[in-house]
Amino acid sequence: MRTVYVNGAYLPETEATVSIFDRGFLMADGVYEVTSVLGGKLIDFGGHIVRLHRSLTELDMATPCTDAELLEIHRELVTRNEIVDGMIYLQVTRGNPGDRDFAFPSADTKPTLVLFTQSKPGMAASPMAKIGMKVISIEDQRWARRDIKTVQLLFPSMGKMMAKKAGCDDAWMVEDGKVTEGTSNNAYIVKGNRIITRELSNDILHGITRAAVLRFAREAQMEVEERAFSIAEAQEADEAFITSASTFVMPVVEIDGTAIGTGKPGTVAARLREIYLEESLKAAI
Ligand code: PMP
Repeated sequence: MRTVYVNGAYLPETEATVSIFDRGFLMADGVYEVTSVLGGKLIDFGGHIVRLHRSLTELDMATPCTDAELLEIHRELVTRNEIVDGMIYLQVTRGNPGDRDFAFPSADTKPTLVLFTQSKPGMAASPMAKIGMKVISIEDQRWARRDIKTVQLLFPSMGKMMAKKAGCDDAWMVEDGKVTEGTSNNAYIVKGNRIITRELSNDILHGITRAAVLRFAREAQMEVEERAFSIAEAQEADEAFITSASTFVMPVVEIDGTAIGTGKPGTVAARLREIYLEESLKAAI
């Protein structure tokens, strides 16, 4: 049984509880982060902490503890659960004011902090990286502050189910004719060796993996263009791929039934996956 963390205590998962009045439960008033673990070490922990602070600040939500304490909790959970490869899920909510009210509670309501592990042995050797993903496109019906990593994941969850129903792996969301991102990842195409991905704004989550991959791509003298693209342009691209903390770089080989390039994972995506894993492992803590 897993050991999880809730508000200062390490407990067996069956004994960890949160109040029914918690604003995370009643109002999706919470933010989260997912940090990958490879070889027992945290990948880009610093990046996830910076984004957590940004999400908390944007929502005027209190910080539950210091960064050093958060690192300590992450490491303790890795040790106690003997995680070699996998993820650490962290969630902060506005806490339990003891009743339901639209107004934010006063400062004496402490934020709720929950962390748990997900073990995924051999995660970096996912067979999907060799096969590639199939995606469908759907209209983006999320709220307009997708730059904040909130736990309001109902529409992305519905999108994932629409993809599954269509026999595919994920959905790319489209707004005003342009791809925003995948249900839980950032979206890219490659045309003539140029990597194209939507620019940062409130329309997409500022992926930690996106930032790292674009940095590594530029360091490797690859051309990067940050701009929006349509599904039609993606279907005519040489390659397509996604990035996220738990999938790293994953090729996309089909969009709405149209094969991308050769219909096989592309060389640029494969190279970026290799560089990302190599560099991230070197910097893991
Ligand atoms: N976009 C969305 C909507 C996501 O949910 C995620 C993953 N949480 C990402 C992008 C990728 O972000 P990261 O690389 O930080 O995991």
